[in-house]
Amino acid sequence: MSLFEKYPVSITNSLSGKKELFTPLKSPFVGLYSCGPTVYNEVHLGNLRTFTAFDVVYRYLTHIGYKVRYVRNITDAGHLTNDAGEGVDRIEESAKLEQLEPMEIVQKYTFSFHDVCRIFNILPPSIEPTATGHIVEQIEMVKKILANGYAYEVNGSVYFDVRKFMEKYKYGELSGRNIDELLEGTRELDRQDEKRHSVDFAIWKAVSPNHIQRWPSPWGEGIPGWHLECSAMGTKYLGEQFDIHGGGMDLKFPHHECEIAQSIGAYGKTPVRYWMHANMLTVNGEKMSKSKGNSFLPRELFTGSHPLLSKAYSPMAVRFFMLQSHYSSTLDFSNEALQAAEKGYKKLSNALSTIKKLEHPGGSGNQDEELLKLIDEAYRNMSDDFNTAKTLAVLFEMSARINDMKSGNVKLTDLDADTFNKFKSAYITFMEDVLGLQEEGSQNLDVLDGVIRVMIDLRKKARTDRNYALSDKIRDDLKALGVQLMDGKDGEISYTIE
Ligand code: AMP
Ligand code: ZN
Repeated sequence: MSLFEKYPVSITNSLSGKKELFTPLKSPFVGLYSCGPTVYNEVHLGNLRTFTAFDVVYRYLTHIGYKVRYVRNITDAGHLTNDAGEGVDRIEESAKLEQLEPMEIVQKYTFSFHDVCRIFNILPPSIEPTATGHIVEQIEMVKKILANGYAYEVNGSVYFDVRKFMEKYKYGELSGRNIDELLEGTRELDRQDEKRHSVDFAIWKAVSPNHIQRWPSPWGEGIPGWHLECSAMGTKYLGEQFDIHGGGMDLKFPHHECEIAQSIGAYGKTPVRYWMHANMLTVNGEKMSKSKGNSFLPRELFTGSHPLLSKAYSPMAVRFFMLQSHYSSTLDFSNEALQAAEKGYKKLSNALSTIKKLEHPGGSGNQDEELLKLIDEAYRNMSDDFNTAKTLAVLFEMSARINDMKSGNVKLTDLDADTFNKFKSAYITFMEDVLGLQEEGSQNLDVLDGVIRVMIDLRKKARTDRNYALSDKIRDDLKALGVQLMDGKDGEISYTIE
């Protein structure tokens, strides 16, 4: 029996508003899509909360035996400042400000996003498609929607015809908006008058002659509408209908609502079976966002350079902070909350170091039902809509048992070896694999390893250049620091640290 059969997962589906039993279309395969970043500047901690939430969903589903294909896109074209598809192109605007090519901006912030993910131990997805890499698929989708009569072309732009769509299908179901309310929404001037109705949205947008990012299409040169990329890439890699689609709560409308309409407009099928939305990271109750000026950047945390922080915090303490609340609740960010999180994380991390070193001496003691019950509870909590808050509470109980084992309050010889091994393995698995919480300091060791390897490469280069003075200096200086380099048989160099 697989773990996902033993601990069936339930998910609060934003579409129904109810907690539902999760049954994948083609178990054990699971298709998971989550909206990735728009790479026009550095991600802030608010963005990271959402990415962390779906990282845990991916980790847990994989851990319990599902074969997950996780698609998280990179938005590198088409995202305008107004989510309704109007306003300034975010990437073009950054390019102007930083005096770089739009694709230089895209590259720079994609790399920076990947660095941040590595630091926070957010796993890479199975596929990370980009909007610019899928222009053809997006154009094909626009053609389908046009052919089905749910879009119209004006001056080289193509708009989704929401009114027409509503003659047959529902629009606004996910976000609970009603169309009349939407129609009353403020109308923008500019190109808005091209649209038949203010609720219509661009699926292809003609651009002005000075717009650098542009692609040819049957309607002239332009850019894809922002909502379209997720529909096109989700369909391409996960099918016309797939299991789970996630993103931040702020994307429900219009982004995800438009995605649903586009997919139905093109393929006549509702694209997603379970919609999941992560709630907002707030500062003093207000959504953290770049535009509000209340955002915190990862590097401001590690250096403690933000005026509202009293000190620097480690990435794992911040990750722990994010996981302390359920993904569907808002989470307020503050120096005090981080301090508390740091303490909590250290407790769990210490227990992790301890249990890794503890070995059962063998033999059979008592089967401690309590220990097995804790493992069971951890699974039940995670399977209950990925409740990381309750799972952490169980891990705290487990850490107390670990401390008893360490202090000798509980003797390992009194415990059954099999029970102990199950308990040890569960604690390590939940911490590292499921929640992605690494041992304190282990990240620094990774950095140290990287730096030493750089030095080894430099020494190799010095030797090839016959600069023996430099190669000896590198070896001797490293030795003085306690790092001993050793020449292997095949020219490979290894090292030991005293
Ligand atoms: P963006 O790069 O603006 O497209 O946002 C990337 C992801 O971060 C989206 O899923 C957003 O919903 C999410 N996001 C933005 N701000 C916050 C916040 N304050 N708290 C949680 N998630 C957020
Ligand atoms: Zn999206």
